[in-house]
Amino acid sequence: MTGFQAAERRELVLRAAVRRGLLHPEDAVLAAFVDLDGVAASVAALHRAFPDPAAVTHTFAAKANCLVPVLERLRRLGMGCEVAGPGELAQALAAGFAPERIVLDSPAKTRPELRRALELGIAVNADSFQELDRIAAILTTLRTRSRIGVRVNPQVGVGSIAAMSTATATAKFGIALDDEGNAERLLHAFRQWPWLTWVHAHVGSQGCPLELIAEGIGKAAAFADRVNGELGRHRVEGLDLGGGLPVNFDDDRTSPGFDAYVACLRARVPALFDGGYRLVTEFGRALLAKNGFTAAYVEYTKTAGGRPIAITHAGAQVAARTVFLPDTWPLRISAHDPTGTARTGPPVPQDIAGPCCFAGDLIARARPLPLLAPGDLVALLDTGAYFFSTPYHYNSLPEPAVHGATVTADGTVRFELLRPAQRIEDLIVRP
Ligand SMILES: *Cc1c(COP(=O)(O)O)cnc(C)c1O
Repeated sequence: MTGFQAAERRELVLRAAVRRGLLHPEDAVLAAFVDLDGVAASVAALHRAFPDPAAVTHTFAAKANCLVPVLERLRRLGMGCEVAGPGELAQALAAGFAPERIVLDSPAKTRPELRRALELGIAVNADSFQELDRIAAILTTLRTRSRIGVRVNPQVGVGSIAAMSTATATAKFGIALDDEGNAERLLHAFRQWPWLTWVHAHVGSQGCPLELIAEGIGKAAAFADRVNGELGRHRVEGLDLGGGLPVNFDDDRTSPGFDAYVACLRARVPALFDGGYRLVTEFGRALLAKNGFTAAYVEYTKTAGGRPIAITHAGAQVAARTVFLPDTWPLRISAHDPTGTARTGPPVPQDIAGPCCFAGDLIARARPLPLLAPGDLVALLDTGAYFFSTPYHYNSLPEPAVHGATVTADGTVRFELLRPAQRIEDLIVRP
């Protein structure tokens, strides 16, 4: 990456976007940006962190940012793709991923979805005993090249965000390993079905400490070792470790990094690195979150009950989680003048409101920022993952354009359109 600090890069991008009309106070009041250099650096950090790249397939969890040009770029950077339904599968195929570089994980795969994935040779992780039975039925009449695994729930407990914790005792995902009889029954499934060769765990996501993730992966690996111990070496060929590395939303540092993740796994589950298993990873948030931001104009300002309020064009339609669960998903916000230059000035507690017609449509409450004025810009930081892919269609507000940006050493910004803004015409739908 070029020598600019993250905040400087954002400012360069914002200023260039204003100059080129990608942000415009009347025609483009809201737009999102992906730092493509940053994405490449994050992918490189992931690849560097794993000791033997040959034995690892890194896939990107499409739900974190499902824009086809983003997926295409990730493919060219050497990533595979993890998908969780027919829409994401279609996006991954459109982005050019080879079927053997795609992993299908979903707790609700239909028979036709399973059949198609197995026909194409896409890796499949079954989520339940019933799904394994379905796969077995399909394979009585079909030969497949797909790697087939089973997702286990290592039941290691809850992180700081319950809704994001996939490995609690009662989580809906995978086969609960500690429930009475399940481990035996799964062992029997491995004995019965030679095509079942992978074990999958995804312990996360945001809010789960590394130790909890490592403990979960450790339990999945111990189960794989047990299968191999009872049924013969290499019966389980590989472990899919899932994703779930949390992201720091407090400042521009990337912590914990992939190197800390690998160091923690090495200490807790050394067997992962002794060459006995092929590995797959499925990171989403940790690759993209810090490489995107969303910018919106301030349309009006007012005070209510003595508190300054900036009415902006960014609200629940682009940041639903932040608006509905502000304590769980707070976002950093930076203030900029109409040219995109960072505003300086004494911090004044302000509400940063969105355009939606409900009172709770606030991106931040009493946030200390230089006092905003109409025509200013606010940037919502760290929105590269799970924001562009989670629109909320309230008030029929159109989805904004998403632009990719690269910054050269001399500060020149190049843009590439990743998603056009939804047009008002697109919202007029009739049967
Ligand atoms: C969401 C998800 C991921 C990605 O999680 P992150 O926290 O974004 O890394 C990986 N695997 C599965 C099965 C998922 O559901």
